Amino acid sequence: MQLTFKHGIHPKDNKEHSKDFSFEIMPVGERVFIPLCQHIGKPALPVVKKDDYVKVGSLIGEAQGFISSRIHSSISGKVSGIVNRPSSSGVLIPHVVIENDFLYEEDFLPPILDLDQSSIVNRIKECGIVGLGGATFPTHVKLMPKNKIKALIVNGCECEPYITTDYRLMLEKPSEIMQGIEFVRKALGVEVSYIGIEGNKKDAIYSLAKFSETEVHIFKQLKTKYPQGGEKQLIYSITKEIVPKGGLPSDIGYVVLNISTIYAIYEAVMLGKPCFSRYMTVSGSGIKRPANLFVRNGIPISEIVDYLGEDEGVVKVVLGGPMMGVSLHSYNPVTSKGSSSLLLLKEKEIREIEPTPCINCGRCASVCPMNLLPMMTDKLVLHGNISEANKYYPMSCIECGCCAYVCPARRPLVQSQRLAKKLINKNKIIPA
Ligand code: SF4
Ligand code: SF4
Repeated sequence: MQLTFKHGIHPKDNKEHSKDFSFEIMPVGERVFIPLCQHIGKPALPVVKKDDYVKVGSLIGEAQGFISSRIHSSISGKVSGIVNRPSSSGVLIPHVVIENDFLYEEDFLPPILDLDQSSIVNRIKECGIVGLGGATFPTHVKLMPKNKIKALIVNGCECEPYITTDYRLMLEKPSEIMQGIEFVRKALGVEVSYIGIEGNKKDAIYSLAKFSETEVHIFKQLKTKYPQGGEKQLIYSITKEIVPKGGLPSDIGYVVLNISTIYAIYEAVMLGKPCFSRYMTVSGSGIKRPANLFVRNGIPISEIVDYLGEDEGVVKVVLGGPMMGVSLHSYNPVTSKGSSSLLLLKEKEIREIEPTPCINCGRCASVCPMNLLPMMTDKLVLHGNISEANKYYPMSCIECGCCAYVCPARRPLVQSQRLAKKLINKNKIIPA
């Protein structure tokens, strides 16, 4: 039986564009622009200045505070400055500019001699690992929960359409992933790890299973449905337990990590490699050659588009998945820890039409995996009635986009939820 959660949608997965392509290395140009904020939390503080020489993996930004993360150089060369550039969401943030000497000299961390709980968590922190599924929450913080953890849940769903990097990692690096799972199991002090993979990736299950120990690695085949990889949806599908409203998975004894993050943990613990690169899918009918790339952080998107070729008729460019990613207005932003995919989409792949008034059909509520009433938040936010909107739990919205996907009136329902969250915080209203 394929496990699942309530509601959700079945968008066309479009993974056939890139799923059969092995990883290839994205070449790096004359310079990289490494953002000092690639994570949720406080931006890192620069620890390099103009004319400093750095190697691949050298620390260039120190974390500030508990919820923050370190930043490392992705190439070797000279720092030519720190400049403000727009991030993918258009906000100006400082970037360290490094001129490439094309030597790729490495500055990795030494091997860990005593692999215990604290040395693993510390290594993950030192290497600046964050949730590479796109959430970019610092991973070491997740691995220091207040509550006792019952099990690690590995998210192998990759439920966003088009993206195929976790799938390729499961096929190409299975023993490394299983080793990474063991490191996390040790760091959390848990006996069991559940590995949840959607039924459309059975070959990935077989690939990992060859390297698993059956008593401690429990594979769960999940229904192919969006957002199957949402933390709360994944926990429910596997355990039938519900994370309380406003709560975290660790409140009920689970930590969820996705495959790319697990692989980065393997590299950090085993090889001492800081998190200065990631795997990224480039897809959509607007790219001439879809690919799964190994990309270093700080490469301008324009260089990736030049490398793979842009077709005519691209109307939308998305960094991240089509459901939760951000639309880019130029090719100037750079790759960073959260860049799971780059999509160049043509007219036939998007739905850009003007919103019309809500017709009260209820479809948005019928697909919401958090059991919310998105049309109510939308209506109340439009009328500026934030305290009333708060009663419809916008803070529980996971911004999955299912509601907007099915809305026949094309209401901007996710934006309304985001706006409601912002205004609730701004007006210091206690979340319902
Ligand atoms: S209201 Fe939020 S959680 Fe519910 S479907 Fe819409 S975006 Fe997803
Ligand atoms: S799906 Fe759209 S039209 Fe239907 S109730 Fe929701 S907001 Fe209104």
